[in-house]
Amino acid sequence: RKRDDVDVEQLEQAVSELDSKATYTNFSDLPLSAPTTAGLKAAHFSALTDIQAKAVPLALKGKDILGAAKTGSGKTLAFLVPVLENLYRAQCVGGDAGLGAMIISPTRELAIQIFEVLRTIGRKGHLFAAGLVIGGKGLQEEQDALARMNIVVCTPGRILQHLSQTAAFNVDNLRMLVLDEADRILDMGFKRDVDAILEYLPADRQTLLFSATQTKRVSDLARLSLRDPEYISVHEAA
Ligand code: ADP
Ligand code: MG
Repeated sequence: RKRDDVDVEQLEQAVSELDSKATYTNFSDLPLSAPTTAGLKAAHFSALTDIQAKAVPLALKGKDILGAAKTGSGKTLAFLVPVLENLYRAQCVGGDAGLGAMIISPTRELAIQIFEVLRTIGRKGHLFAAGLVIGGKGLQEEQDALARMNIVVCTPGRILQHLSQTAAFNVDNLRMLVLDEADRILDMGFKRDVDAILEYLPADRQTLLFSATQTKRVSDLARLSLRDPEYISVHEAA
């Protein structure tokens, strides 16, 4: 067997043994792949923030999550670490694996920020092809790039355009969907786009939905997009 297969088996075992009731303090307490561990270390991330401590173990186990925590609480790594890990363990990497994860952000600027964090923690040995689909390039150029991606960070309107217009855009292998800043996605009027995107995606996927605020519209979207989710809400210490 390849060394990777042994790694993956050991990680699978360790993830299955994660205790949902335990409190993990550091990234090093979690069963993470060597590339993610090295990427986090190089970026000087060691202690988990509250939302990360609650969300990452559950997300590693494949649970759907509705996570609410204010801006600045570290939601980006709360979903990027599980995205990298769950795709790594599924060996969803390289040209033949197809698109494994779609991360939807309300704005181009936020999508670019997410992509930069992904690059930062992904650069120590991960082999995923990741890209941005936020418009600003020609549709054809984006389409060609999309065909090779394992992870896409995108805005709702643009990715819907590809889903509806690009016959060759195949999402059959998609395992993870992330809706970041869901409250802003809805505030900006993207509800119908998100509903339409969901129609294209495999039902048998993991969905992580993060929001700075908990509103009725966010919980309505959660009902539509999540399966038996864990509700995680982090409040400021009194
Ligand atoms: P949110 O999406 O909740 O607004 P971000 O993911 O943008 O928050 O993170 C906010 C800031 O906290 C960023 O500067 C990020 O680098 C930093 N940060 C995130 N997680 C950690 C961590 N575990 N340790 C130290 N800093 C962190
Ligand atoms: Mg954020």
